Amino acid sequence: MPLHSLADLFHETLRDVYYAEKKLTKALPKMAKKASSEELARAITDHLRETEGHVERLEQIFEMIDKPARAKKCPAMDGLIEEGDEVTASADEDATRDAAIIASAQTVEHYEISRYGTLATWAELLGYVDAKNLLGQTLDEEKAADEKLTGLAEDINVEAEEVDEAA
Ligand code: ZN
Ligand code: FE
Ligand code: FE
Repeated sequence: MPLHSLADLFHETLRDVYYAEKKLTKALPKMAKKASSEELARAITDHLRETEGHVERLEQIFEMIDKPARAKKCPAMDGLIEEGDEVTASADEDATRDAAIIASAQTVEHYEISRYGTLATWAELLGYVDAKNLLGQTLDEEKAADEKLTGLAEDINVEAEEVDEAA
């Protein structure tokens, strides 16, 4: 389908992030299960709940622009998750694996922050006031999730760093 206008681009990108969020609702529980730190597992599970809300907000926006909620494959999100899984599976020490899980989760958050930043800007230009508000709320939650992970990494990275010394 040719993309003619900013409205077309907005719709196409909405479909992309819709795929990404739905994919995450499946990937996050697996990530939480692999985490050794209880705090990390809880942070991921909390963000899973938020992610389910992100999916719902996107469905509301599809409705606002009178389009069916149809996902479009996002090779970027598929790749980020695949890469994270691969590194995480190779880690043979708990703190190292947790550090890898955080790093992987943050690549995902940064992708989402980029998508929602763009979509919120376009929504504003297009005069989609309600959509812009919903996108802004999700953007704030993605940023908060990213910051939470940065905080958790402060301790977990140090634990991973100390693995060799303890051995
Ligand atoms: Zn999200
Ligand atoms: Fe994408
Ligand atoms: Fe997220």
